Amino acid sequence: MSQARIIDGKPLSERLQAEVAAEVAQLKAKHGLTPGLAVVLVGEDPASQIYVRSKGEKSKAAGMHSVTHILPADTTMETLIGLVEALNVDPTIHGILVQLPLPKGLDEKEVITAINPDKDVDGLHVINAGRLSQGLPSLVPCTPLGSMIMLRETLGDTLAGKRAVVVGRSVLVGRPIAQLLLQADCTVTIAHSRTVDLPAVCREADILVAAVGRPQMIKADWVKPGATVIDVGINRVPFSDPVKAAAGKTKVVGDVAYKAVSEVAGAITPVPGGVGLMTVACLLQNTLTAAKRIAGIG
Ligand code: NDP
Repeated sequence: MSQARIIDGKPLSERLQAEVAAEVAQLKAKHGLTPGLAVVLVGEDPASQIYVRSKGEKSKAAGMHSVTHILPADTTMETLIGLVEALNVDPTIHGILVQLPLPKGLDEKEVITAINPDKDVDGLHVINAGRLSQGLPSLVPCTPLGSMIMLRETLGDTLAGKRAVVVGRSVLVGRPIAQLLLQADCTVTIAHSRTVDLPAVCREADILVAAVGRPQMIKADWVKPGATVIDVGINRVPFSDPVKAAAGKTKVVGDVAYKAVSEVAGAITPVPGGVGLMTVACLLQNTLTAAKRIAGIG
């Protein structure tokens, strides 16, 4: 049985980070401009702490000005919005990212809406979502952006006309990926929890994107032979080994049954080591893009 080509996020994300770092160095030298990223974390969610640390480290490594604001879980909306508004007018900051999810009691939509759309490097503000849906220049959410880079790397300029199925319709992942696939002239279907006969819908896909949040839900017989599979899912599950499971150890798996699907697909992203790595690299790219647009460069 033939094995799918693995779309490895490591070299791709490292290349993108190096490209961003080179452009940051040029911006500093030519224009005296240092792109600045502010990451805001509210509360002590362990996964969020890891993501925020990684974002801070990688933006510094790319030569950016990087600040992290850590606020307690009982922070009020007034304080959080006050911080966002201060960052909106801070000339050293070009990208603002409020790490989601926020603790209960804080209104995510209201916080995102408070971010200056020009600094919204997570691409979640309605202005950016609207611009994306109209095919206008916008800040695009990082995970969808990273998924598209992986697809272009795999399929080159052959995306036009392909049948793409995106499973998941969230504002953060499913919808923006579908918009980007549409912009690339794919014929796009968005599936979700109310889709009838999901396996049959998935089997139509030349490009199958799984953004569901259900461990290994997409099975081998849901996948068209030779299809390109992008697995966005990040799910923490107990080890199948009973000793490790009893010790409370967990591992990360995607939304796709990786091993079995690898024997059917033409190409597939692994989890971990796939889309997740591209997400942070794309955040750096968005911060660079925002800095250049705000400064009117390029
Ligand atoms: P959401 O929970 O916001 O959305 C999940 C989507 O999946 C919904 O549209 C839901 O449908 C759909 N869905 C749920 N169950 C089913 C089902 N049984 N059949 C078909 N569709 C279903 O999740 P996110 O979009 O935020 O994230 C999706 C996954 O991507 C998660 O695993 C998350 O951890 C991961 N992720 C990974 C990132 C990365 O960097 N790699 C970044 C962000 C997320 P409905 O709308 O009908 O409820």
